[in-house]
Amino acid sequence: MSKPESQEWILEEENELRIEVDFDTKVKLRLITGTAEVFGTELAQNIDYEFTGRKLAIFTWHGCKLVMYGKCSVEYIANETPMVSYLNMHLALEQRRILATQNNGQGPRVLIVGPNDVGKTSLSKMLLSYALRQNRHPIYVDLDCSEGSITMPGCLTATPLTEMIDVEEGFGSSATSAPTAGSAVMPLAYYYGFPSPKDNSKLYGLLLSRLAQSVSRRLEEDDAARKSGIVIDTNGLIDSTGYEIIANCIKAFSVDVIIVLGHERLYSDMTRLHQKSGVAVIKLAKSGGVVERDSSFRRQTQNHKIREYFYGTTKNELAPYSTMINYHDVEILRVGEGSLAPSSALPIGEDRKVSETHVVKVDPSEHILLHSVLAVSNADKMKSEEEILETNLAGFIYVSEVHEARKKMTVLSPCPGRIPKKYWWLGSLQWAED
Ligand code: ADP
Repeated sequence: MSKPESQEWILEEENELRIEVDFDTKVKLRLITGTAEVFGTELAQNIDYEFTGRKLAIFTWHGCKLVMYGKCSVEYIANETPMVSYLNMHLALEQRRILATQNNGQGPRVLIVGPNDVGKTSLSKMLLSYALRQNRHPIYVDLDCSEGSITMPGCLTATPLTEMIDVEEGFGSSATSAPTAGSAVMPLAYYYGFPSPKDNSKLYGLLLSRLAQSVSRRLEEDDAARKSGIVIDTNGLIDSTGYEIIANCIKAFSVDVIIVLGHERLYSDMTRLHQKSGVAVIKLAKSGGVVERDSSFRRQTQNHKIREYFYGTTKNELAPYSTMINYHDVEILRVGEGSLAPSSALPIGEDRKVSETHVVKVDPSEHILLHSVLAVSNADKMKSEEEILETNLAGFIYVSEVHEARKKMTVLSPCPGRIPKKYWWLGSLQWAED
């Protein structure tokens, strides 16, 4: 086999190499001399890093030489980046951590807001990586249900980080059944099941409060995490619903720093609405390298993530466990059935939102289940609607086959030998195994 073509890149100090790699391509990158980092995580010299289906920047503070094998769809060096302001932001947060250590207080609770595709997740990674590089153990809270940096899309999660975030895998998708990249502790995930907080804002609000309670309990017990603080990544909603979510979030997580990325009006509104209550509101510029992701790229990223959840990555392969389940061994649940009914169809006086957190049992059938990815609740028995909604997740399963006549289904699970728990959430996640 012929060797993939190689290209050498020399980067001056504070420059970055921006690359986009398609999903059907593999690109290898090696740092030859100098220092470089990907979203805050340092590269080791003379090690090959492999990327597929990624858009990213390799940034250097002091200059470096890189070699790349394979073909990117986009590749260029940029010498204008907002990295110095991001580093200064980290240094200001670190001051708060030092103070927290001296006073036995709390580290910064940072909320990152802005529209879609301004670099919120990338900035979260950088601030978390810089904190980790200073031996801090921050908690990453991901409220972006459309993406699912930590587990699958449709979840709200919190992950205590103790190890560096992986250059190739990011936060990874090793999910709720196992510790994830960057963490030796299992992430905490709650199932929302919709792509936008707007789809069921009542349920979103409920889960956000539940997650915040779990995070504050964790902060009470974990001294290092309390002093290191939390970084909260949000989804890009900045209309009235978005503002309501931001306000809820500030209250629930006792946010004391809001970073507004790349949006003047949002910055001015956040200053007006929240600065008087003692929250620091800071504006940071969007990096020119941030790439808008179209729906096809997002869909491919989602498929890639689901595949990784069950089969792992080239570096960390997993063999999923395939098992046959009787329909009657599980209860398949869905949230908010009926919320689509027009208000006029509801009984007089009944609040339309009542149905938004209604839990409905779904009759299993091939039509509904085949190729679905379901979230497995940690609940052992059917409690009240609220309790089951607020129970965190054990993991996910994929329905690969349905044997309608025998009332059975074959499911894939990443945990060999473990019988999945009884209550499974059905959302809109579908995946056709390739
Ligand atoms: P948001 O969270 O605001 O939606 P992301 O941080 O996910 O935005 O960034 C959008 C896309 O741009 C991601 O694929 C990310 O990896 C990419 N990206 C971010 N910063 C850069 C950069 N400096 N160079 C190249 N790609 C970048």
